[in-house]
Amino acid sequence: MSDEREYRHRRIGDKVLRPETLMMGYGYDPHLSEGAVKCPIFQTSTFVFKRAEDGKAFFELAYGLREREPREVPGLIYSRINNPDLEILEDRLAIWDGADAALVFSSGMSAISTALLTFLRPGDAIVHSEPVYGGTEYLLLNILPQFGIRRYGFTAGVPGAMESAVEEARAEGPISVVLIETPANPTNALVDIQACRRLVDSVGQDQARRPVLAVDNTFLGPLWQRPLEHGADLILYSLTKYVGGHSDVIAGAVLGGKENMEQVAGMRTILGTMADPWTGWLLMRSLETLKLRMTSQMKNARYVAEFLLDHPKVRKVRYLGFLDDDDPDREIYQRQCLSPGGTFSFEVDGGEAEAFRLLNALKIAKLAVSLGGTETLAQHPASMTHSDVKPEHQKAIGITPAMIRISVGVEHPEDIIADLEQALEQV
Ligand SMILES: *Cc1c(COP(=O)(O)O)cnc(C)c1O
Repeated sequence: MSDEREYRHRRIGDKVLRPETLMMGYGYDPHLSEGAVKCPIFQTSTFVFKRAEDGKAFFELAYGLREREPREVPGLIYSRINNPDLEILEDRLAIWDGADAALVFSSGMSAISTALLTFLRPGDAIVHSEPVYGGTEYLLLNILPQFGIRRYGFTAGVPGAMESAVEEARAEGPISVVLIETPANPTNALVDIQACRRLVDSVGQDQARRPVLAVDNTFLGPLWQRPLEHGADLILYSLTKYVGGHSDVIAGAVLGGKENMEQVAGMRTILGTMADPWTGWLLMRSLETLKLRMTSQMKNARYVAEFLLDHPKVRKVRYLGFLDDDDPDREIYQRQCLSPGGTFSFEVDGGEAEAFRLLNALKIAKLAVSLGGTETLAQHPASMTHSDVKPEHQKAIGITPAMIRISVGVEHPEDIIADLEQALEQV
């Protein structure tokens, strides 16, 4: 991207423009593309160099063979390394979280696995919160140990659990990564990012390199939680969820500071886990309405949560906006989160049979896993997204047979409530 494009539209005078404004044009110069208002889809595998000297210079920068000269423009080479649809998207994504850089991947899982393979080596430990997303859990429990990586989990929301896991891990060797998912899915238990950073700093004092603190920000980010401001080094996303937002694309991202991101970029180039230009284009389109959608989903979720809270057939609502004064998560929530978001879980009076009756009776909300799309989705964690978590462990982390997770969409909130009301009659 040219410097001219890089600095385009970021401020007017000394007024810094807000992310939702920048999503419409930042990083794209129409005059480089026949005046097209929208960035075209650069459906190309490779790019023509004007001169052999340019090709040489582009490779030197892409492979880190020398430092970039002031005002030197890294050129386009090959779509596994870079492509305008991904670069512009990445520049826009980085704005929301205040990151130096972003990289987009073919899925949330390819983002997470590429980031972890960048920083973990045989003998290293990863300490992580629990529960984590099912795919992440499989990677941590079943795949990484085959490469000699030690794994230590701690339950989100249990006082002292994180500290004990770190103690246990560092007694056996270096810790390279601490990975947390907050709020946890589906319980909405919180992990304190600042406390985690203090712990990581203390570990860093007696090993060669401080562990990298990575936060999966899929549930509240980038609107309602900004992990870099609380001390995180890397942010991981499944863009499939709120950022993509229409349940029609699979993608992921990693964001962070320059040094770490250069390493992740190198790994992505070799593993080939980047997204394709068409996905990049779809996500740029999604980013234009990100704030509108997430704001509407957040407001709708509050109406729905309040309706459920008062309903006689609902036992418990695990919504971040309803934390009690004496709940230790409340202080973390107030410091770390900017809204309760649009996804939460609740328990019906009864067990699996009652939960299934409700799910089967829904007319507007769709019975499907995933979350963050424009449409309301509901599912049963115990038998669906978290079915590979053993029943004792499900109980320990707060997943019950009566639990339903709902991702509230942008429909009219009274319609969503009417749907739940008639479905609850079946319970
Ligand atoms: C969905 C999800 C993932 C995995 O993302 P994919 O895009 O499905 O690969 C990772 N983390 C969280 C929190 C998720 O919800």
